[in-house]
Amino acid sequence: MNILERIPELYVLGAGPGDPELITVKGYRILQKAKVVLYDNLANKELLELTPEDCEKIYVGKQPYGDYTPQEQIHELIKHFAFTKGSVVRLKGGDPFIFGRGFEEILFARENGIKTYFIPGITSMQASGSVDIPLTHRAMSESVWMVTGTKKDGLLSADLKLAIQSNATVVIYMGMKKLDEIARAYIESGNGNIPAAIIQNASKPNQKSARGFVKNLPAIAESKALTYPAIIIIGAVTSLAN
Ligand code: SAH
Repeated sequence: MNILERIPELYVLGAGPGDPELITVKGYRILQKAKVVLYDNLANKELLELTPEDCEKIYVGKQPYGDYTPQEQIHELIKHFAFTKGSVVRLKGGDPFIFGRGFEEILFARENGIKTYFIPGITSMQASGSVDIPLTHRAMSESVWMVTGTKKDGLLSADLKLAIQSNATVVIYMGMKKLDEIARAYIESGNGNIPAAIIQNASKPNQKSARGFVKNLPAIAESKALTYPAIIIIGAVTSLAN
């Protein structure tokens, strides 16, 4: 069918936490037929090998404290390729709707007459099982909070203060520059002795992790030189880690 006769399409696709085999079957199939892929820095580049030879692969990643592609530019690329090629795949690390701005891209596309599809991904915290950290546990944790360590204004999320008061497992994304502040918030509320763990490159061959008590978060990171991308898990369940 002629591209111009078809409604242009956007596939917002979760790449999973890092191991390329942790993508969904649906995601795998979509990549095999992709015409253009706009991919992030946290999506495993090995997944691009699934695409046809003539597929255009464009990096639109955001380094946490360095170069980045402005969101408006990503939107323009989506629009441009959807209308010139017929469909665009937006490949994002983990799940596109968990701290991923995937929904903004969907709304932008719809406003511009592009049909949208959402394919979920395994979010990075779900790889915690590989170091024997179950996120919930009948005897230890009845809920999980996903909290961002870095809000738009650079501040620590106020939700963390609420999460500290619960028995929930708390998972902090984008928090590696805030280890001191996070530890202090727990100490100040009298909860410094809750077990905690940090996992870098979860599910990848270069995965590293360490654990201890939340009051010592900076020292836990230093013990194994853990840096971005890493998740911080706080709660009794981390004491089960191997
Ligand atoms: N949408 C992604 C999250 C994007 S925000 C998801 O669902 O996983 C970026 C943050 O995700 C990083 O700062 C880090 O906290 C976390 N992250 C992403 N991939 C990771 C990985 N393989 N290991 C550990 N943390 C990861």
